[in-house]
Amino acid sequence: MLKPATAPLAQLENAAEFLPRHIGPTAEDEAHMLSVIGAASRAALIDALVPANIRRGLPMELPAAVTEAQALAEIKAVASKNQVLKSFIGQGYHGTHVPGVILRNILENPAWYTAYTPYQAEISQGRMEALVNFQTMVCELTGMAIANASMLDEATAAAEAMTLAKRGVKSKSNTLIVAGDCHPQTIEVIRTRAEPLGIEVLVGMAPDLMAQHDYFAVVAQYPATTGMLHDMRPFAEAAHAKGAAFIVAADLLALTLLVPPGEWGADIVIGNTQRFGVPMANGGPHAAYLACKDEFKRSMPGRLVGVSVDAHGNPAYRLALQTREQHIRREKATSNICTAQVLLAVMASMYAVYHGPIGLTRIAQRVASYTAILHAGLQKLGFKVLNPSAFDALTIEVGSRADEIAAKAVAAGANLRRVAPTLLGVAFDETTTRADIEAIWSWFAPAGATLPAVADFEAGVEPLIPLSLRRSSAFLTHPVFNTRRSETSMLRYLRGLADKDLALDRTMIPLGSCTMKLNATSEMIPITWPEFANIHPFAPAAQRAGYTLLDQQLRDWLCQATGYAGISLQPNAGSQGEYAGLLAIRAWHASRGDAGRTICLIPESAHGTNPASAQMAGMQVVVVKCNADGHVDMADLKAKCEKHATELAAIMITYPSTYGVFETGVKEVCETVHRHGGRVYVDGANMNAMVGVAAPGEFGGDVSHLNLHKTFCIPHGGGGPGVGPVCVVADLVPFLPKHASGGMDVAAGGVGAVSAAPLGNAAVLPISWMYIRMMGAKGLTDATETAILSANYVAARLADAYDIHFSSELPAIKGGGVAHECILDLRPLKESSGIGAEDVAKRLIDYGFHAPTLSFPVAGTLMVEPTESEPREELDRFCEAMLAIREEIRQVESGAWPREDNPLKNAPHTAAALLKADWPHAYSREQAAYPVAALKAAKYWSPVGRVDNVYGDRNLFCSCLPVSEYQ
Ligand SMILES: *Cc1c(COP(=O)(O)O)cnc(C)c1O
Repeated sequence: MLKPATAPLAQLENAAEFLPRHIGPTAEDEAHMLSVIGAASRAALIDALVPANIRRGLPMELPAAVTEAQALAEIKAVASKNQVLKSFIGQGYHGTHVPGVILRNILENPAWYTAYTPYQAEISQGRMEALVNFQTMVCELTGMAIANASMLDEATAAAEAMTLAKRGVKSKSNTLIVAGDCHPQTIEVIRTRAEPLGIEVLVGMAPDLMAQHDYFAVVAQYPATTGMLHDMRPFAEAAHAKGAAFIVAADLLALTLLVPPGEWGADIVIGNTQRFGVPMANGGPHAAYLACKDEFKRSMPGRLVGVSVDAHGNPAYRLALQTREQHIRREKATSNICTAQVLLAVMASMYAVYHGPIGLTRIAQRVASYTAILHAGLQKLGFKVLNPSAFDALTIEVGSRADEIAAKAVAAGANLRRVAPTLLGVAFDETTTRADIEAIWSWFAPAGATLPAVADFEAGVEPLIPLSLRRSSAFLTHPVFNTRRSETSMLRYLRGLADKDLALDRTMIPLGSCTMKLNATSEMIPITWPEFANIHPFAPAAQRAGYTLLDQQLRDWLCQATGYAGISLQPNAGSQGEYAGLLAIRAWHASRGDAGRTICLIPESAHGTNPASAQMAGMQVVVVKCNADGHVDMADLKAKCEKHATELAAIMITYPSTYGVFETGVKEVCETVHRHGGRVYVDGANMNAMVGVAAPGEFGGDVSHLNLHKTFCIPHGGGGPGVGPVCVVADLVPFLPKHASGGMDVAAGGVGAVSAAPLGNAAVLPISWMYIRMMGAKGLTDATETAILSANYVAARLADAYDIHFSSELPAIKGGGVAHECILDLRPLKESSGIGAEDVAKRLIDYGFHAPTLSFPVAGTLMVEPTESEPREELDRFCEAMLAIREEIRQVESGAWPREDNPLKNAPHTAAALLKADWPHAYSREQAAYPVAALKAAKYWSPVGRVDNVYGDRNLFCSCLPVSEYQ
């Protein structure tokens, strides 16, 4: 017998709502937290903190929230509008089989995808080992000395190689030569990036062109976009004779069979690792790579993982040469890259571990043999193939039959590449079969022709790789690439690495500015559906209708959230959104005959990507001071606006400020800059404090980028992928980035492509779509308000123990009132105890936490951002750890523990260190390992002791460790 319902039907229907899954604190928790803070209600707290003059006028117009099941059903309908055809398009994107063990245990595993960028080395050893495998794989396949831990895509990697060459070569020329048979999207992005830097791009790698001109670098593709294999030795020599660099975009699978560029004179090699087990995903995310010769290493862009030693003298990984990077070097940085493509780099590296050199070579040989067979059959059918040499792709002269043949292919469920009106392209990959080859012949065959069969050619098939280009050198000889053939072994290797790391599946990651909130499982589920995963970015638009709808809806919703008129989802990370936004401002000024406006004002508290992006956009950075409260110094701002009135292009501000406060003067800042002819860029990384409460497009911003991997739930992936949409007000909409290779017209004076693919990291967009769809306008506003509430709760609980560095100074609110994050100032304690912010960060590992943001934006501080997703019990666990640590510091202050030998200075403690026979310290092993009782039930053990940063940079080593090192 069914019992009668105990609640009204509407309430029962609501029981599956997503909101309480996303937001950690319950209503009772909220009441308690408010009482600790000293606020009457959440609304009263928000009213007290957010300046009235920037509050949203109207609520966001978004569809009402639906449950997880309903949202999944809706996005399935969107996905179903995509048509998954077999792809023979090539052009940098290929079919691949994602090994099941990698799909489930990396891509679908929160231990990998919810991790943060490995700044805290000790809790990131697993993913850094995977990244060192990636770097080793790239070095050995390309034949180069050093490779970084991923780039955003092949085209931007080529552009970064261009500027790396510019910094590194003797030639003083401003001209770049780009081979005409590079992928068109690569040439397009290079042009976008070259123009603001005053670099002239000449397309065509002909010997006479190279003889006539001075140039600082050459970019060529290997194999070319046509499939052709050029012997580029003479071109590299010619470049070197002019003091120029030779840059090669190379395909890693091809390099298992081809003489690697490093053996014939390349200075920089870049490319995509997508075909190493990462789906095409409508163009992204994938890990691109950049490798170079040793003398360029200090000038490389992007993150680099190196080997160092820990406090016990054991090898340990860490991020190397960080002094190149934007967070330290700002406008003088080697690049603006911050978030990269770590999760995909991990996948690609594991594909190499899984297949090993023998398996990769077999895949490549099969592809090359099939290509040769295709070639023979097409010749037999009377076709002229343009490229006599090939690895995996052919370009075929088809006269007036291009439409007809391509249509036959589509009717049979496949796409060919439309190279030119009379040329078709066919590219093969790991997934190609004998049946595919015969099907292709049938589409090409003129009426009445006898169809060849693969068996006809099988006997004497010889790849179309010239003898002079065949590889003889070994690669991937390290045991890691040769000992994981069984799935059991592979599974345990992946599990073992994941276990070394702390990600969101084990602890809060209270990283100020980075917004490590819930990445809900339902949000993640669609990304591996074939309808999203197996689409080629240059497939005919009609086959990508689902993506077009996803793009449209998400942009509409994000316009509602930000108050802007237009958005592009093309930028692959926040840094790229900044760059695209500044290009829009630059192009707008130029369209008004105001090209002389090139000054970009940036407050001293800004994130490092801001000045680095401004430099790349051809602007000069002028720093604006902040006052003692952490606010933009209005007098300094006015003085600088006046001084540069005729050259002022823009200001870049962050709101709430990087100091975590809602500055009351933000409207005045915007008005002042506007009055002097500049535009206002509002860095949207802190949008988690504003969605539903304030909209930058309404209160004075002209351009913002969002970080969908912060505010809108895309996981950090251990340092990428990200999505950095660029959002603009109405008059800047014409200057959003376009994409000619993707079929978008670039108007005169408009901005071209900033990413290789038209929709950037398209395949992770369903995550943000799901989030917004399941939250609705009210849910998103609740999330913002709870994020602010939680930050204020942490500030209130810690205010007696630590200095809250900047606050709104509201006397009624304990902690003074902060936005969605708070800065704990450790500098006074450094004086009294010798304990610094880094010691506290490392000691938190012993307590089972990932540290807050260390020394940004103020050196010697920790910035805590709890987000709305952390339950109150986790907030309390963190606060109690911080309070216990404060008591530990008191022991040092009082002299009970020596300044240089205490649990903070020796943190993190490894099990091995605690099990040593002698224990010469003034604190007990118990105090070291179990400073709070709860740790006895669940303890994270750091796999290494504190990592020595200086040693690692002095003894730079960025490849797999020789096995002897482990013994
Ligand atoms: C994270 C962040 C960025 C850069 O974004 P990425 O996606 O990492 O490139 C820029 N500004 C601020 C304030 C940030 O916190």
